[in-house]
Amino acid sequence: MTDVSITPGSASPASFLLRGTAANNTLRLVGMDSTAVVEEARIRHDLSKTATAALGRTLTASVLLATVLGKRSDSRVTVRVDGNGPLGWIVAEGSVDGRVRGYVRHPEADLPLRQSDGKLDVSGVVGQEGELAVTRLLDNGEPYTGSVDLVSGEIAEDISTYLGVSEQIPNAVLLGVYEEGGRVYRAGGLLIQAMPGVTDETLARLEANVKAFGQITDHLRRGSLMEAMHAITAGLGLQLADSAQDARFECRCSREKAADSLKFFGPEERAEMMNGGGQNVHCHWCGEDYLITPAEIAALNAQEAHGLA
Ligand SMILES: [Zn+2]
Repeated sequence: MTDVSITPGSASPASFLLRGTAANNTLRLVGMDSTAVVEEARIRHDLSKTATAALGRTLTASVLLATVLGKRSDSRVTVRVDGNGPLGWIVAEGSVDGRVRGYVRHPEADLPLRQSDGKLDVSGVVGQEGELAVTRLLDNGEPYTGSVDLVSGEIAEDISTYLGVSEQIPNAVLLGVYEEGGRVYRAGGLLIQAMPGVTDETLARLEANVKAFGQITDHLRRGSLMEAMHAITAGLGLQLADSAQDARFECRCSREKAADSLKFFGPEERAEMMNGGGQNVHCHWCGEDYLITPAEIAALNAQEAHGLA
């Protein structure tokens, strides 16, 4: 499961998470191979190349953040990136159990490859000024939102700054999306968290490893997520957890919820929808369209007539 290899033209492997510790439990790691998740997001939202990279990094980050900040096995975090670039905002919701969904304001926004390094211009499309906000539920069930100004618009640095400044968690974050032949070839991320008691030697070694690491997508293309986790903890004694955890793009919308949303319209508007042959309800999170039939709308009317709504 963790030793997945891929050849050009083959289907994307399933996405998954790996967890581990290093340096006598003073470093905690979580890694995600999000190739299939990001490819599904690209297809669902008809994303441009640069938009795929921007949303893909944010989707991956939302799951990694959930594993660090979430207290329960189904805890979720929502990441919202509001930059001043042509993409508009990005929203991603990730869960500790590996489920993730998200979208962008302008999926068609794109930019030429950056001249300085020949890479996708993610910060150009996101914008270098703006805000990153993370919302999660506290132990008492109340939502809590923390935010920081964008640092670079490249997402990984911005997420890392959020964790350091807003959550006081020393960390390193690496995110990447590599596209080839019009599809997502490799995508993934790593989040390394320094725990209390971490030594200066460990932090210095980690910093050197991060500098020498290069792009996470290069590791995923040539090796695997496990190889990337070994590389980032070289000399620090990585202990991987036994099992990988599946991850997938999964929305929480449903036909029933889509029909229910029509309850917000008055009887006259609903009569119009019925006369027009039904009403399309679009889910922004996943791009799904639900055509609610006149019979289903009539059922909503009947429910209300019986005081069930
Ligand atoms: Zn949906």
